[in-house]
Amino acid sequence: MQSDDHLPSRRRLIQGAAATLAAGVAMPAFAQSSSGTAQPANTPAPLSDPTKRYAQPPFKEQKQPWPGLARDMDPKPDHGEESYQGSNRLAGRKALITGGDSGIGRAAAIAFAREGADVAINYLPDEEPDAQAVVELIHQAGRKAVTLPGDIRDEGFCRNLVEKASEALGGLDILVNNAARQQSHQSILDISSEEFDWTVKTNLYAMFWITKAAVPLMPPGSSIINTSSVVSYDPPVNLLDYSMTKAGIVNFSKGLAKQLIEKGIRVNAVAPGPFWTPLQVSGGQTMENLKSFGSDAPLGRPGQPAEIAHIYVYLASTEASYVTGQVYGASGGNGNP
Ligand code: NAD
Ligand code: MG
Repeated sequence: MQSDDHLPSRRRLIQGAAATLAAGVAMPAFAQSSSGTAQPANTPAPLSDPTKRYAQPPFKEQKQPWPGLARDMDPKPDHGEESYQGSNRLAGRKALITGGDSGIGRAAAIAFAREGADVAINYLPDEEPDAQAVVELIHQAGRKAVTLPGDIRDEGFCRNLVEKASEALGGLDILVNNAARQQSHQSILDISSEEFDWTVKTNLYAMFWITKAAVPLMPPGSSIINTSSVVSYDPPVNLLDYSMTKAGIVNFSKGLAKQLIEKGIRVNAVAPGPFWTPLQVSGGQTMENLKSFGSDAPLGRPGQPAEIAHIYVYLASTEASYVTGQVYGASGGNGNP
């Protein structure tokens, strides 16, 4: 699928529509959709059967070296590049998103920027091509993009990351701990101590370190959002270590929410089901699971990152002021407690 967001004319239309809304003037603005039909900007997507939307399994065999690139997936994930319409819900906010180059983190980055936030993203140096695509999209939304590549398994790096993000953005009021390591192993006997450590460092320690560095910088009204998973409720056979960390993220989010509310900071988690992202094609699934990815869900297909971005926007926004210590699911019909 080719994004037409890169066209300056569309960019002006989107920005024009945002400016029109900000001024409170009702004026129809029209943008070109991927199907080539003009439709009003800032109107809801047309009514459509969710089971029929997006790519359906079976998928082609594909394997990328970890951490993988969204750019090279077939079909390409939909992160909302063409579809996400902002309405100033995060105007002036300052967000740091780990794993913001691809998948769910990229969808959140695009959505945040189109809602008026400046966005810093962290990712691994190998993911620079995906990261640059996100930077371009944030700029097209008229917002500041900050790139902070590096490995979050290192405590010193995590502290620096938060400091640099806050410096570059002029503050920090949204933190999305979203980066993760997921590798499929059929048996506990196949998980080396090194692999176990890698997963736990990325998924739990880094969240702890980054959050600890961020809390003193975050003003009342700020929001921390941690990406968990449906596997925290029902661990699949091949993701023992990963699932354990995702359950830990739920518990951490609920406990931290109780601590931080006295500072006016809300903490929540998002628990996605199967989503079509590089995590899955770079060792996160067996090839058999990948080909039928999402077919176990009642919806019969995987989610696309664009289908979950709204939850991050909601949890980040002041609209969610009574929402803390919660876990929001989007898992195609399976899984949540
Ligand atoms: P993704 O591959 O697009 O994102 C994961 C990101 O983690 C990578 O882009 C990478 O930048 C980052 N990362 C990994 N190790 C890192 C390290 N050591 N240092 C810095 N960055 C590192 O895949 P995704 O599916 O969008 O994953 C985002 C989140 O969603 C993860 O927390 C994942 O567990 C969660 N999740 C995904 C699914 C799914 O089916 N895709 C389901 C449930 C939960
Ligand atoms: Mg990536």
